[in-house]
Amino acid sequence: MQADAGIDRVLIGREAISRRLDELAQAITADLCAQANGIPDQITLVPILTGSIVFLSDLIRRLPLRMQIRLISVSSYPGTSQASQGAKIEASLSQIPETLVAQHVLIIDDILDSGQTLRLARDLIQAKQPATLRTCVLLRKKRPIAMAFPVDYVAFEIPDEFVVGYGLDFDDYYRNLPDIVTLRSDFVSKAVRQAGSSSGLIR
Ligand code: 5GP
Ligand code: MG
Repeated sequence: MQADAGIDRVLIGREAISRRLDELAQAITADLCAQANGIPDQITLVPILTGSIVFLSDLIRRLPLRMQIRLISVSSYPGTSQASQGAKIEASLSQIPETLVAQHVLIIDDILDSGQTLRLARDLIQAKQPATLRTCVLLRKKRPIAMAFPVDYVAFEIPDEFVVGYGLDFDDYYRNLPDIVTLRSDFVSKAVRQAGSSSGLIR
C-alpha cells in the first residue's frame, strides 16, 4: 500500500511547517536567552514519544543552544482509537533524571488535544524542580479544553479533527508523511472495523 493511502486533504503543507518552525525557534531562543540574561549554559528538551519525533528533529536543528534531550513516553491513543484513552507514563522508556535542579527545560509534544498528556508530563518534570519549565506543541486543536490549557509555544492551531503525518500516527502508520493531513472517514472506519475495535471512534 502507498504511504499516503486514505488521505482526505492536506491541512498544513511542508513549506508552511518549515516557515513556522523558523519563527518558533527564534522565539524559543530569544525567551531562553532573556531568562538566562544571555545565552543559557544549556537547555534540556523533553520530547514526548513517539508523535513529536519529526517536529523535534526539525526544531532542534534551528536552536543554536547547548542541549540535552531526555525522552519520555506517554501513551494515550492506542492502536486505531481516535480519542484519548487516558494518559499514562511508560516508565521503562523514560529518560528523565532524578533531578532537574538549575535546568531550563522545554517539553515538546506533537498535539494538544485534551491536555492530559501535557499535564502528566509537566507535573512529572515540575516535581524535579527545574529552574524554568516551558511547554511547546506543534498543534493545538480548536476545542475549548485544548484552548484553555496553558502552553507556552504553539506552532499551529487546527480544527478539531483527527490528523496524521509529520510524526502523528494512525495505528502507528503515516508518521513519515511530510505534510499534516486528514484521513478519509470511510478509510478510517474500515481500518477500525478490521482492527475489531470501535473504541473512541465517535466523538
Ligand atoms: P491529549 O492527552 O492532549 O488528549 O492528547 C495528546 C496526545 O494524543 C498527542 O500526543 C497525540 O499522540 C495524540 N493525539 C491527539 N490528537 C491527535 C490527532 O488528531 N491525531 C493523532 N494522530 N494523534 C492525536
Ligand atoms: Mg503523543
